[in-house]
Amino acid sequence: MNLSELTIHRAHHSLLKKEISAVELAKSFFEHIKNSEKTIKAYLKLTPDSALDSAKQVDDWISQGKEIHPLAGIPIAIKDNILVKGFQATAASKILENYTASYDATVVKKLKAVGALIIGKTNLDEFAMGASTENSAFQLTHNPHDNSKVPGGSSGGSAAAVAAFEAIGALGSDTGGSVRQPASFCGVVGLRPTYGAVSRFGLIAMASSLDQIGPLARNTEDAAILFETISGNDNFDSTSYPGEQDFFRPSKQEDLRGLKIGLPKEYFIEGLDGGVAKVIEQAAENFKKLGAEIKQVSLPHTKYSLSAYYVIVPSEVSANLARFDGIRYGLSIHQGNDLMEVYLNSREQGLGAEPKRRVMLGTFALSAGYYDAYYKKAQKVRAKIKEDFERVFKEVDILLSPTAPTTAFKLGEKSQDPLSMYLADVFTAPQPLAGIPAISVPAGNANGLPVGMQLMGPHFSEALLFKAAYAFEKFTV
Ligand code: GLN
Repeated sequence: MNLSELTIHRAHHSLLKKEISAVELAKSFFEHIKNSEKTIKAYLKLTPDSALDSAKQVDDWISQGKEIHPLAGIPIAIKDNILVKGFQATAASKILENYTASYDATVVKKLKAVGALIIGKTNLDEFAMGASTENSAFQLTHNPHDNSKVPGGSSGGSAAAVAAFEAIGALGSDTGGSVRQPASFCGVVGLRPTYGAVSRFGLIAMASSLDQIGPLARNTEDAAILFETISGNDNFDSTSYPGEQDFFRPSKQEDLRGLKIGLPKEYFIEGLDGGVAKVIEQAAENFKKLGAEIKQVSLPHTKYSLSAYYVIVPSEVSANLARFDGIRYGLSIHQGNDLMEVYLNSREQGLGAEPKRRVMLGTFALSAGYYDAYYKKAQKVRAKIKEDFERVFKEVDILLSPTAPTTAFKLGEKSQDPLSMYLADVFTAPQPLAGIPAISVPAGNANGLPVGMQLMGPHFSEALLFKAAYAFEKFTV
């Protein structure tokens, strides 16, 4: 079995035709992972025993002639800030090193219910704060296309696992680009769903008004299958959307006649790598050949996105991380004269530099006397950014841009310079602020590395984004 050729679709058909059993499929993945992980280091934890148990169950269903879901028996990797019952959920932080999840996140429950195989927990930037996975307290993950480069972040482990054929699909979380940017760097598809499309129950919170769980996969169709399976209303997440949504169904009709695609001029700026720009220009040409109309548009408040993002996110981080106090979860340093010293020592030793930086910034931004100048102002900017998108989606159906300003950078290149790391999010911070969906799709290569294009659409336009991405994929393959 050639793992590199397996998509969800193909693996599903091999299982149905009994060319391979689910147990054999799982075993061949673990075999490959053993070798591949020597260099990639995408996983913090593998879960072969439970995966093989689930695989046996799927094989039973098949032999009993039961109808199986496209994800039954499919090996899926889960970012280690998403809870899988009975296993660690470290969020790549020392403070949660010994924490074991006591329940399944809703997305995991949904995957398990259809027989998907959870094969391991993947590396990330600590608490999903970062853009290279170098902020993990435990290990560096390497980009499968060039081992000296980062896989992107914060879902770098999930993207690298899919790109290195160590999983057929994966889940990540995206607060300001953490699914899309690593997808771009690793040459895979990554979707950030509309805020509220997927339940956040069981996701270790970073910035709750922005966090969304999203799929990473080899191609658009696989990403759509994963999205359809994990999305939907959930009583355990009051921000999850109660209505019905359209889902993508691949069709033979692959042209995009009548589709209006906007190119936001603010996304083609100084600092955008020339090779990346070329790939996106070519992508626009390809969309034209598919029948779409390309139009330049403007989102004038884009330039304030990062500033607003890096006030709002630390503010929410400072509140969300308050629960890690050395008493209720994980690491507890029982030194000191009183409770306050236990808190301080546990947090001092348990949290890394980036979470500490954000807790301090956020506490400052929320404090009396500064709240109006920082947090409140950032919320106003957020509203402006949302209005920009609403206005532009009256002119065009979707938007096209690069996912990231560069291709994968070198390990160590930005890790000592938080500001240059934050700039990596320049094209992926605006959509979460507006709550809209965006997908990164491989569009070509520059500097010998993959380049992702980003497609954005109005709230709950995932089916349209998938349709455009699918047509593009079919056209360029
Ligand atoms: N790089 C961004 C940050 O550090 C995005 C992280 C994310 O989406 N989780 O905040």
